[in-house]
Amino acid sequence: MRERVSIFEVIEDARIWLFFRPLHNLYGAYMREGDVAGIVINSQHPVSLQRFTAAHEYGHHILGHAASADDEERIYRRGGQSLNEVAAQSFAGEFLMPVQLVNYTLRTMGITGKRLSLGPRQVYQLALELGVSYGAAVTQLVAHGKLPVEAGQRLRKMSPLEIKTGLAGIRPENSWADVWLLDESQDGREIVARLRDEIHLLLRETPSTGYVWEPVDVAPEILELVDDRFDSADGDHDVVGADGLRHLFFRVVGPGAGRIKLERRRPWEAPGQAIGAFEATLDAMAALTGDDPEGVTSEQKQGVIDEFRTVAA
Ligand SMILES: [Zn+2]
Repeated sequence: MRERVSIFEVIEDARIWLFFRPLHNLYGAYMREGDVAGIVINSQHPVSLQRFTAAHEYGHHILGHAASADDEERIYRRGGQSLNEVAAQSFAGEFLMPVQLVNYTLRTMGITGKRLSLGPRQVYQLALELGVSYGAAVTQLVAHGKLPVEAGQRLRKMSPLEIKTGLAGIRPENSWADVWLLDESQDGREIVARLRDEIHLLLRETPSTGYVWEPVDVAPEILELVDDRFDSADGDHDVVGADGLRHLFFRVVGPGAGRIKLERRRPWEAPGQAIGAFEATLDAMAALTGDDPEGVTSEQKQGVIDEFRTVAA
């Protein structure tokens, strides 16, 4: 098992109605009416959270539970829960993060072993690769026995926003956005990003040789170049011949598939004289439907169920 689980496709293949609506403080809901079942997901959440909520609701379906309307407590918190909720939580964790997939993904990050000492940045990167939230990844690493319980508690105290800000040295413009850090070791990567995500390319460069990284193919309808700078290794930009990092900062501005291709070459030489290349492909997801800011409030649960009945009728 090497790829993230396509939970939305799994749900649709199971012929369960799947829809996205603004749900205020509700994460998602599951309903069943005779032969027809439906799952509603909060359209205002980031896709990593929506994936986990969807797996939780799908868990209610697979486990044969009756209708459930789930807030943060019921999706994420352990303890003090009904057995059905604990079961749906465990199902979601195992479904999106089975141990084989976690192990495989950790190996691609150069991490092996049984008991790991992972820092918050590594857990964040793992969560990105698996398409789940940071908190869900911490919980599952503890459940798989990869992390001691105390390490999980420590990691859970770190906010994802702090981690993301530390990664690239810049606070993401949108606090829900994910931050992707790519270096040469990740040449050939495929990224599944979403709108407003931030992508930082860090490529080694020695300007005194004349060879610099030049973007040769960057889909402008998908990616906007926000910043392009050279960070010298010793922090002193005046040292001739200093190695450093070319830092290109892109933001995802449109949905679609495209690529980021750069070549390392002397700008005055003809194309084809490059001594290096870097390429990543990008699949940027559109926002899921229903971006209406008006959430359903006190009657949200009943409203969602009524809507489901109308759709299912
Ligand atoms: Zn639930």
